[in-house]
Amino acid sequence: MSVKPINLLPSDLAYVPFVSVDNMMRNVRAVGVETFMRGIADYIEQDFLRWESFDKKPRIPAHAPQGVIELMPTSDGKTFGFKYVNGHPGNTRDGLQTVTGFGVLSNLMTGYPVLFTEMTILTALRTAANSALAAKYLAPKGSTTMAIIGNGAQSDFQCLAFKDMLGITEIRAYDIDCGASLRLARNLANSGVNVTICKTPEDAIEGAQIITTVTADKKSATILTDNMVGTGVHINAVGGDCPGKTELHRDILLRSDIFVEFPDQTHIEGEFQQLDRDHPVTELWQVYAGKAEGRTSQDQITLFDSVGFAIEDFAALRYVRDLLPRTGHFEKLDLLADPDDPRDLYGMVLRSAVNGDNQAA
Ligand code: NAD
Repeated sequence: MSVKPINLLPSDLAYVPFVSVDNMMRNVRAVGVETFMRGIADYIEQDFLRWESFDKKPRIPAHAPQGVIELMPTSDGKTFGFKYVNGHPGNTRDGLQTVTGFGVLSNLMTGYPVLFTEMTILTALRTAANSALAAKYLAPKGSTTMAIIGNGAQSDFQCLAFKDMLGITEIRAYDIDCGASLRLARNLANSGVNVTICKTPEDAIEGAQIITTVTADKKSATILTDNMVGTGVHINAVGGDCPGKTELHRDILLRSDIFVEFPDQTHIEGEFQQLDRDHPVTELWQVYAGKAEGRTSQDQITLFDSVGFAIEDFAALRYVRDLLPRTGHFEKLDLLADPDDPRDLYGMVLRSAVNGDNQAA
């Protein structure tokens, strides 16, 4: 599949387009949140269809008892992208986000960055787009009801992506903090989905064809036990994305057909860490490419063991980069030294003093 290469015009070389949080929100509003997520889903699918052209490795983590910071690089041989992202489940107690991020896209031919962007909002958009894309292939046809367990920062985006791309009209929400569910219901009022706040996870999954788990806790939690999960459902397991941080009882995995992004990373971080490495799992790109089957029967439990993979962020960065000429919602970041003579870097520093900057006293 041919994908449009990043266009690096000579005039671009003097600055890097920078998308702040403020401008990301402007960009999202300019196209609409659902169109934005559908756009990212299309780019993810395009990039998964050319899976073999990407450089792939598990992301690089730095762990602390409180959480993790991760670097997620990849390249298709022409363009390089990376995301810096953290996951700190205790942060919300101090008024901080659990997940924040930023990312860069670069032209591999010159090494010059062509985009620098916030990725806190973009990660929520791409994670929801990615979940809904996988569910298009895996969820029971005609699904109308989704349970969502964990009603934090990611959850609104998940609900809207599933509404837009799967036709979900009923959301059954549960969180250990009822205030989080109330916030979700408030934000989704008038969005086209009906939100029912549930008192228990068992209540939430009642009648749901799709179960999304998107909780944050730095431990092996059991959000779903085996007896809670009936046949025929699709589980979109988003919150278990770190060593020792899972959401599902192991027995559910043994009854499910498991779909993953990149097995080497998922076995370190996902629900898959509870099983032997040689347990059969299906790579999603193979399903999208028609090389492997998705849902094959009504009774099958399909499980998307989502951890978040670099190619999804690469696709989201490409989508934003392509959007910017249309919206104009970015700043020109002075990130690249641009001396008249490329080798006269020090001369540029000297001339900057002559041009008016005084030495500190
Ligand atoms: P958040 O802190 O904003 O929200 C998490 C919510 O989970 C909170 O409202 C909390 O009260 C709730 N919760 C915790 N334990 C629970 C339990 N046992 N039962 C029900 N609810 C519970 O976090 P967020 O930004 O929404 O992220 C949620 C999770 O998704 C995190 O673990 C994050 O690392 C993960 N994540 C995964 C991906 C991916 O690609 N797979 C991407 C982004 C975030």
